[in-house]
Amino acid sequence: MRLVLLIAALAAALGLAVVTSQSPRPASLSTPAVDFSAERAMPDVRRIAARPHPVGSLEHALVQAYLLGRMTDMGLQPTLQAGVLSPAAVARIEKRGDSARGLRAVNIVGVLPGRDPALPAVVMMAHYDSVPGSPGAADDASGVAAILEAVRAIKARGPAERTLVVLLTDAEELNLDGARAFFSEHPLRDRVGAVVNLEARGGGGRAMMFETGPGNAETIAQFARATRDASGGPSSDSLAVFVYRLMPNGTDFTIAAQRGLAGVNLAFIGRPAQYHSPTSTPEALDQGSLQHIGSLALETADHFLRVDALPRATQNAVYGDLFGLAVVRYAPGVGWLLLALAAGLTGFAAWRARHATGLRWADVGRGVAGGLWLVSSGLVLAQAVRVLGGPIGRRIDRPRPITPCSGGCRGWRRGWAWPCWRRCWCCWPDAPGSGGG
Ligand SMILES: [Zn+2]
Repeated sequence: MRLVLLIAALAAALGLAVVTSQSPRPASLSTPAVDFSAERAMPDVRRIAARPHPVGSLEHALVQAYLLGRMTDMGLQPTLQAGVLSPAAVARIEKRGDSARGLRAVNIVGVLPGRDPALPAVVMMAHYDSVPGSPGAADDASGVAAILEAVRAIKARGPAERTLVVLLTDAEELNLDGARAFFSEHPLRDRVGAVVNLEARGGGGRAMMFETGPGNAETIAQFARATRDASGGPSSDSLAVFVYRLMPNGTDFTIAAQRGLAGVNLAFIGRPAQYHSPTSTPEALDQGSLQHIGSLALETADHFLRVDALPRATQNAVYGDLFGLAVVRYAPGVGWLLLALAAGLTGFAAWRARHATGLRWADVGRGVAGGLWLVSSGLVLAQAVRVLGGPIGRRIDRPRPITPCSGGCRGWRRGWAWPCWRRCWCCWPDAPGSGGG
């Protein structure tokens, strides 16, 4: 009977793990105007990620012109802000054999005025440049397209109190230079009260809220309230934030957080093979990820635009989502208390077991080792299920066939795929816009 219960509990846990690791269904074109629809955002993804568009390429200029036009049509009165490229960015461009002379990081900044211009503004931010060789459908065309669709929905919900700043940054892939230019030089930078940033480190999976501004207790409380009804529900835990802070990577949000601004950083990381890869095409993008990140961004930004007071920096909270349904949060002290309680109860159980059954300490030790073995094999099994059944393992649509280009393989992507010259990706850095994909 005990064995049956154990197996049933394990099966239920595995089922829950599989179900809760799925990205939501992309919402259709007929979704109400006030909600986010991935299908409505896809035309922008397809245009932005038609080809790789790194800083300095012809395609980059075309994407910039397209976004200026889109934002003008939406009434956001976009302007361009040019900032210098950092020495690290220049070094990166020269390392791939290009010249950085005359190149700048050019942000596109749009404004949706709020009813009270005296209130701090809310920024929605994503970068429109890609790395060379990758169309960047996920990183970060999906973020840019999601912001445009979210702004459309915010407008459909009626005027908000606060002003919304739409910040499409440039040169993120080089060294976060666009974000640095905005937060150190742009006239609007001192009016910003909160930031919502959208990123991707793969082409699928659920979107995580993986970073906040400093002292996040109030931010987490507001994020939890805002995203209760988002498609797919919230995904976030303080462990992800903790691990991310130990890693050397940065995103545009790093600059905002360094300025002490409140806000959230959203990203999806499934289908990791698409990260900075030629395979990151609109066709290969998990539209469920676009739906999830877009809906989370829309609900969070809309909440910030209309709430009485934006989150202030106070203490950090311990938190985690409960099966994507809600976010549970408590103070760090409560976490330590729970840990101490668990340790105490375990000790008490060992002491009781020794007295009730005459166990020796060696038996208790064997029991502990058995428990650890069970937990670690559970972790291995859970990871196997995640890979097999989760978003990473889902079927990836084949990218469109790519016509061979005349230039042949020009080096830096040599060896990515054989035969390399059958694909155009490797030619793009040398001849922007000449690719056939
Ligand atoms: Zn990115």
